[in-house]
Amino acid sequence: MREGVLHRYAAFLPLTPQTPRISLGEGNTPLVKSRRLGAEIGCEEVYFKLEGCNPTGSFKDRGMVVAVAKALENKARAIICASTGNTSASAAAYGAYAGLTTIVLVPQGNIARGKLAQAIAYGARVVAVQGNFDRALELVRILAQRYPITLVNSVNPYRLEGQKTAAFEIVDGLGDAPDYLCIPVGNAGNITAYWKGFTEYAQAGRATRRPKMLGFQAEGAAPIVRGHPVKDPQTIASAIRIGNPASWQGALRARDESGGRIDTVTDEEILEAYKLLARMEGVFCEPASAASVAGLLKLARQGMDFSGKRVVCVITGTGLKDPDLANQIADIPLHQVPPDLESVEEVVLGLWGR
Ligand SMILES: *Cc1c(COP(=O)(O)O)cnc(C)c1O
Repeated sequence: MREGVLHRYAAFLPLTPQTPRISLGEGNTPLVKSRRLGAEIGCEEVYFKLEGCNPTGSFKDRGMVVAVAKALENKARAIICASTGNTSASAAAYGAYAGLTTIVLVPQGNIARGKLAQAIAYGARVVAVQGNFDRALELVRILAQRYPITLVNSVNPYRLEGQKTAAFEIVDGLGDAPDYLCIPVGNAGNITAYWKGFTEYAQAGRATRRPKMLGFQAEGAAPIVRGHPVKDPQTIASAIRIGNPASWQGALRARDESGGRIDTVTDEEILEAYKLLARMEGVFCEPASAASVAGLLKLARQGMDFSGKRVVCVITGTGLKDPDLANQIADIPLHQVPPDLESVEEVVLGLWGR
């Protein structure tokens, strides 16, 4: 049996004897050492924290398991969230597991196909709002205030409590905190949660230091970098297409207390990193996840020195969430051949020699 975060990190979570110890096997994700990408920027130790290996394919499961366990403890019967996709997939899965009605509000036409398929498959009630994520979040906040439905967006503090366990795992895996943590920033809950996790672990004597936090927003959806909300956020990375982050202050604290920075990456840089990760490292992630690596590459190009440093890039979700994108940007031709040995042999030999 694979134990989840409620078992492994109980001492660091707000659990009571009445909190049901539910799990779909979240957490304990691989920390994979880069073989080629790190070397290209002169860094011997770059690691990828593969959060796409969680049960629904993103880090959202770490926080959702705590939020749903607490909802059960508090006798809730329904949960609700606004989502660019991954939160709804996760809420739908844990809601189904817990026997709760799950209602998700998604921005119409702006959610990756894999994520919507998950919400539907898990039996969530999906409401497509003709507006963006920020509007959907405003609406669910009002509904959760008005009715006895538990809000499971990251404004629910239990979400961040669960998400901080990824920082614990990184320290447990490396023996101490890394020098830098690179992470995509959308609603800014995750960067806030990691900082909380690194801080609590250091306070508990499990780490001797904390990393510098390097957060990356998409150029067309970078409210924290600009210093004001963005009305109509645009980026190919739908999971970070957010104009008014709920955990804005938490992100600023993580940046400033760690001596790190929050910067932008363009969609071009995101797609470049997305391809490099898959082709050079065997890691297929969704575009928002590639923002962490895009940011690392950008800072290295600008002259930041990572030699002798230990860097962890958080790969927040799996590439299978967004199969349309992978197909759209495919630039390696598909070879169609008749099913006889001669034709296949000719094509194969032509490819092999290259
Ligand atoms: C939610 C999400 C993000 C952004 O995390 P925030 O906590 O909103 O900053 C990044 N990547 C993926 C894959 C996500 O699902």
